[in-house]
Amino acid sequence: MKIKGLLFDLDGVIVTTEHNHFVAWKRTADELGVPFTERENELLKGISRIDSLKMILNLGNVFISDSEFDALLKSKNEFYLDSIQSLNQSDLLPGVFDLLIKAKFQGIKLGVGSSSKNANFILGLLGISDFFDVVIDGNGVSDPKPHPEVFLNGASFFGLAPTECIVFEDAASGIQAAKAGGFFDIGVGNPEVKELATKYYNDLTEFRLEDYG
Ligand SMILES: [Mg+2]
Repeated sequence: MKIKGLLFDLDGVIVTTEHNHFVAWKRTADELGVPFTERENELLKGISRIDSLKMILNLGNVFISDSEFDALLKSKNEFYLDSIQSLNQSDLLPGVFDLLIKAKFQGIKLGVGSSSKNANFILGLLGISDFFDVVIDGNGVSDPKPHPEVFLNGASFFGLAPTECIVFEDAASGIQAAKAGGFFDIGVGNPEVKELATKYYNDLTEFRLEDYG
Protein backbone atom coordinates (compact mmCIF):
# COMPACT_ATOMS: atom_id res chain seq x y z
CA MET A 1 0.00 0.00 0.00
CA LYS A 2 1.37 3.37 -1.01
CA ILE A 3 0.41 5.97 1.55
CA LYS A 4 0.43 9.60 0.39
CA GLY A 5 -1.39 11.35 3.21
CA LEU A 6 -1.59 11.21 7.00
CA LEU A 7 -4.55 12.57 8.94
CA PHE A 8 -4.23 12.99 12.69
CA ASP A 9 -6.82 13.39 15.36
CA LEU A 10 -5.51 16.06 17.75
CA ASP A 11 -6.45 15.25 21.33
CA GLY A 12 -5.00 11.93 22.44
CA VAL A 13 -2.87 11.48 19.31
CA ILE A 14 -0.75 14.65 19.00
CA VAL A 15 -1.19 16.01 22.51
CA THR A 16 -3.26 15.26 25.60
CA THR A 17 -5.41 18.06 26.97
CA GLU A 18 -7.68 15.75 28.95
CA HIS A 19 -6.46 17.14 32.25
CA ASN A 20 -6.99 20.72 31.05
CA HIS A 21 -10.61 19.90 30.22
CA PHE A 22 -11.02 18.36 33.65
CA VAL A 23 -9.67 21.50 35.35
CA ALA A 24 -11.99 23.70 33.29
CA TRP A 25 -15.08 21.58 33.97
CA LYS A 26 -14.18 21.45 37.65
CA ARG A 27 -14.11 25.25 37.82
CA THR A 28 -17.48 25.35 36.04
CA ALA A 29 -18.99 22.74 38.37
CA ASP A 30 -17.59 24.56 41.41
CA GLU A 31 -19.39 27.71 40.29
CA LEU A 32 -22.63 25.72 40.11
CA GLY A 33 -21.99 24.08 43.46
CA VAL A 34 -21.93 20.62 41.85
CA PRO A 35 -19.40 18.15 43.31
CA PHE A 36 -17.01 17.16 40.54
CA THR A 37 -14.09 14.76 40.70
CA GLU A 38 -12.15 12.59 38.22
CA ARG A 39 -15.00 10.11 38.59
CA GLU A 40 -17.68 12.49 37.30
CA ASN A 41 -15.20 13.60 34.67
CA GLU A 42 -15.19 10.06 33.22
CA LEU A 43 -18.81 10.62 32.19
CA LEU A 44 -17.78 13.50 29.94
CA LYS A 45 -15.21 11.64 27.84
CA GLY A 46 -15.97 11.79 24.15
CA ILE A 47 -19.09 13.91 24.44
CA SER A 48 -19.58 17.46 23.18
CA ARG A 49 -19.23 20.63 25.26
CA ILE A 50 -23.01 21.15 25.27
CA ASP A 51 -23.78 17.59 26.39
CA SER A 52 -21.02 17.76 29.01
CA LEU A 53 -22.60 20.82 30.59
CA LYS A 54 -26.03 19.15 30.51
CA MET A 55 -24.47 16.16 32.30
CA ILE A 56 -23.00 18.36 35.06
CA LEU A 57 -26.34 20.14 35.54
CA ASN A 58 -28.07 16.75 35.78
CA LEU A 59 -25.53 15.51 38.30
CA GLY A 60 -26.30 18.46 40.55
CA ASN A 61 -30.01 18.71 39.76
CA VAL A 62 -29.38 22.31 38.78
CA PHE A 63 -31.75 24.18 36.50
CA ILE A 64 -30.61 27.32 34.66
CA SER A 65 -31.86 29.58 31.88
CA ASP A 66 -30.69 29.27 28.27
CA SER A 67 -28.67 32.45 28.57
CA GLU A 68 -26.94 31.19 31.73
CA PHE A 69 -26.27 27.94 29.91
CA ASP A 70 -24.59 29.80 27.02
CA ALA A 71 -22.57 31.92 29.43
CA LEU A 72 -21.32 28.80 31.22
CA LEU A 73 -20.32 27.16 27.93
CA LYS A 74 -18.34 30.26 27.11
CA SER A 75 -16.67 30.51 30.49
CA LYS A 76 -15.76 26.80 30.44
CA ASN A 77 -13.95 27.37 27.16
CA GLU A 78 -12.20 30.41 28.64
CA PHE A 79 -11.07 28.37 31.67
CA TYR A 80 -9.80 25.72 29.25
CA LEU A 81 -7.95 28.23 27.06
CA ASP A 82 -6.39 29.70 30.23
CA SER A 83 -5.16 26.31 31.30
CA ILE A 84 -3.61 25.35 27.96
CA GLN A 85 -1.58 28.57 27.59
CA SER A 86 1.51 26.80 28.85
CA LEU A 87 1.39 23.96 26.29
CA ASN A 88 4.57 23.77 24.22
CA GLN A 89 6.55 21.39 22.03
CA SER A 90 7.56 19.28 25.04
CA ASP A 91 3.90 18.33 25.43
CA LEU A 92 3.81 16.53 22.07
CA LEU A 93 3.07 12.84 22.58
CA PRO A 94 5.96 10.40 21.89
CA GLY A 95 6.88 9.91 18.25
CA VAL A 96 4.77 12.76 16.86
CA PHE A 97 7.52 15.22 16.03
CA ASP A 98 9.81 12.63 14.39
CA LEU A 99 6.95 11.28 12.28
CA LEU A 100 5.97 14.77 11.09
CA ILE A 101 9.56 15.52 10.06
CA LYS A 102 10.02 12.20 8.30
CA ALA A 103 6.70 12.39 6.46
CA LYS A 104 7.19 16.02 5.44
CA PHE A 105 10.63 15.17 4.07
CA GLN A 106 9.07 12.42 1.95
CA GLY A 107 6.44 14.76 0.52
CA ILE A 108 3.57 13.07 2.29
CA LYS A 109 0.55 15.30 2.85
CA LEU A 110 -0.25 16.05 6.47
CA GLY A 111 -3.51 17.09 8.06
CA VAL A 112 -5.39 17.34 11.33
CA GLY A 113 -9.02 16.28 11.65
CA SER A 114 -10.34 17.22 15.06
CA SER A 115 -13.68 18.07 16.58
CA SER A 116 -11.95 20.67 18.76
CA LYS A 117 -12.78 24.25 17.85
CA ASN A 118 -9.40 25.20 19.35
CA ALA A 119 -7.33 22.93 17.09
CA ASN A 120 -5.45 25.71 15.28
CA PHE A 121 -4.70 27.52 18.52
CA ILE A 122 -3.31 24.36 20.12
CA LEU A 123 -1.16 23.48 17.10
CA GLY A 124 0.27 27.00 17.31
CA LEU A 125 1.16 26.55 20.99
CA LEU A 126 2.84 23.25 20.13
CA GLY A 127 4.83 24.96 17.38
CA ILE A 128 3.85 22.47 14.67
CA SER A 129 1.30 24.42 12.60
CA ASP A 130 3.64 24.69 9.63
CA PHE A 131 3.82 20.94 9.13
CA PHE A 132 0.17 20.68 8.19
CA ASP A 133 -1.29 21.19 4.73
CA VAL A 134 -4.76 21.36 6.21
CA VAL A 135 -6.43 21.60 9.61
CA ILE A 136 -10.09 20.64 9.74
CA ASP A 137 -11.53 21.53 13.10
CA GLY A 138 -14.91 21.62 14.81
CA ASN A 139 -15.72 24.94 13.13
CA GLY A 140 -15.88 23.61 9.58
CA VAL A 141 -17.75 20.34 9.95
CA SER A 142 -21.50 19.77 10.15
CA ASP A 143 -21.47 16.06 11.06
CA PRO A 144 -19.16 15.10 13.93
CA LYS A 145 -17.29 11.77 14.18
CA PRO A 146 -18.24 8.91 13.78
CA HIS A 147 -19.39 10.58 10.54
CA PRO A 148 -16.38 10.57 8.18
CA GLU A 149 -16.86 14.18 6.99
CA VAL A 150 -13.88 15.62 8.86
CA PHE A 151 -11.47 13.12 7.31
CA LEU A 152 -13.11 13.13 3.87
CA ASN A 153 -12.64 16.91 3.78
CA GLY A 154 -8.96 16.36 4.56
CA ALA A 155 -8.44 13.80 1.80
CA SER A 156 -10.26 15.95 -0.72
CA PHE A 157 -8.09 18.93 0.25
CA PHE A 158 -5.03 16.74 -0.37
CA GLY A 159 -6.50 15.64 -3.72
CA LEU A 160 -6.10 12.04 -2.56
CA ALA A 161 -8.40 9.06 -2.28
CA PRO A 162 -9.18 7.94 1.30
CA THR A 163 -7.46 4.63 0.52
CA GLU A 164 -4.22 6.58 0.03
CA CYS A 165 -4.43 8.07 3.53
CA ILE A 166 -3.91 6.82 7.05
CA VAL A 167 -6.07 8.16 9.89
CA PHE A 168 -4.56 8.10 13.40
CA GLU A 169 -7.15 8.09 16.17
CA ASP A 170 -7.41 7.35 19.88
CA ALA A 171 -11.22 7.26 20.11
CA ALA A 172 -13.68 4.63 18.94
CA SER A 173 -15.84 7.27 17.24
CA GLY A 174 -12.80 8.44 15.26
CA ILE A 175 -11.83 4.91 14.20
CA GLN A 176 -15.43 4.40 13.06
CA ALA A 177 -15.27 7.66 11.11
CA ALA A 178 -12.07 6.55 9.39
CA LYS A 179 -13.51 3.16 8.48
CA ALA A 180 -16.76 4.72 7.22
CA GLY A 181 -14.73 7.02 4.97
CA GLY A 182 -12.66 4.19 3.51
CA PHE A 183 -9.36 5.21 5.16
CA PHE A 184 -6.69 2.96 6.60
CA ASP A 185 -7.38 3.39 10.33
CA ILE A 186 -4.72 3.16 13.01
CA GLY A 187 -5.54 3.28 16.71
CA VAL A 188 -3.02 4.99 18.99
CA GLY A 189 -2.60 5.30 22.74
CA ASN A 190 -5.93 3.93 23.92
CA PRO A 191 -6.08 0.14 24.51
CA GLU A 192 -9.87 0.35 24.30
CA VAL A 193 -9.68 0.75 20.52
CA LYS A 194 -7.19 -2.09 20.02
CA GLU A 195 -9.83 -4.56 18.86
CA LEU A 196 -11.70 -2.10 16.68
CA ALA A 197 -8.73 -0.61 14.83
CA THR A 198 -7.14 -2.21 11.78
CA LYS A 199 -3.72 -1.57 13.37
CA TYR A 200 -2.86 -0.44 16.87
CA TYR A 201 0.20 1.17 18.44
CA ASN A 202 0.80 2.21 22.05
CA ASP A 203 2.31 5.42 20.73
CA LEU A 204 3.65 6.79 17.46
CA THR A 205 7.26 5.75 18.22
CA GLU A 206 6.06 2.24 17.26
CA PHE A 207 4.73 3.36 13.88
CA ARG A 208 7.16 2.91 10.99
CA LEU A 209 6.35 4.96 7.91
CA GLU A 210 8.50 2.54 5.85
CA ASP A 211 5.94 -0.21 6.49
CA TYR A 212 3.28 1.80 4.67
CA GLY A 213 5.35 3.25 1.83
MG1 LIG B 1 -8.94 12.05 20.28
